[in-house]
This record gives sequence, structure tokens and C-alpha cells, in this order.
Amino acid sequence: MSLPTYEQAWESARDERPFSNGTEGYAWLDNWCGRCINDKPARDGRDDEGCPLILVSLMGRTPIEWIEKRDPESGLVRLGDSYHCMYFRDEDDGGDPEPTPIPDPPGQLTLTPREPHERARMLTSYPEPVKAGGGS
Ligand code: SF4
Repeated sequence: MSLPTYEQAWESARDERPFSNGTEGYAWLDNWCGRCINDKPARDGRDDEGCPLILVSLMGRTPIEWIEKRDPESGLVRLGDSYHCMYFRDEDDGGDPEPTPIPDPPGQLTLTPREPHERARMLTSYPEPVKAGGGS
């Protein structure tokens, strides 16, 4: 699963800052990107090969690939865990990150062919937030 380009990530990103302050941002980046294979080139001194999603976030937009994580009861986020990135891959994981299709069970009828949908990613935009006290 290859990363989007910077231009693709910018276009699909939400037009809002991902973090409310530097502490929140750097806590998250340290926790996730600091050990992700997709930003390893930047950690090795090759900044121009770093993760484009980080660059999008530093430019003030929230990558659509970052899934917001909130406590369902309190609505609060934990410092360093405000998002889960769909492209995160620990540099110690090794191996090919591409999922291997699970074969259809023997004798199972198939309604639709698998091939066009294999390795497809389900990616949707966030819904518009519900406004309190709204009405028509
Ligand atoms: S793929 Fe996600 S977790 Fe990995 S470096 Fe990029 S933004 Fe961070």
C-alpha cells in the first residue's frame, strides 16, 4: 500500500488544523511517525523523502488518512493518540504490508468477482459536524 503523493494528500485533506497546539502535535508525531517506516528517510536525514502526510499537517490541513480517536464517553482525546494513521507501519514490522486476499471457502458460491476489489481501500470523507441548536 503506497502513500499518496503530497499533492494527492493535500487535495483530500480536511481544511482544518489537526492539532490545537504544538504539544499535542509533537506528542502525536513522536508517538506514531517517530517509529513509522514511511518517515524513516527523514529520520535518516533525507527530509525530501519524508512522509507527505506529515508535511500536509504542518501546512495546516488534516490528512484524510488520519482517523480521529476520541473517548466515546468524554469526547476527549489522549495526548499522543488523537489519530490513528491508516498508513502507519512500524519500522520493526518487516515484510510486505500488502494484505494477502483470503481465498473463497471451497464450494462457496461467489456473487461478485473478487479481482477488481482486491487491495481496494475504503476511504470516505468525514461527515459534516452536527451543529447544536440547528434547525431549518
Ligand atoms: S504514514 Fe502516518 S504514521 Fe507514518 S509517518 Fe506518515 S503520517 Fe506518520
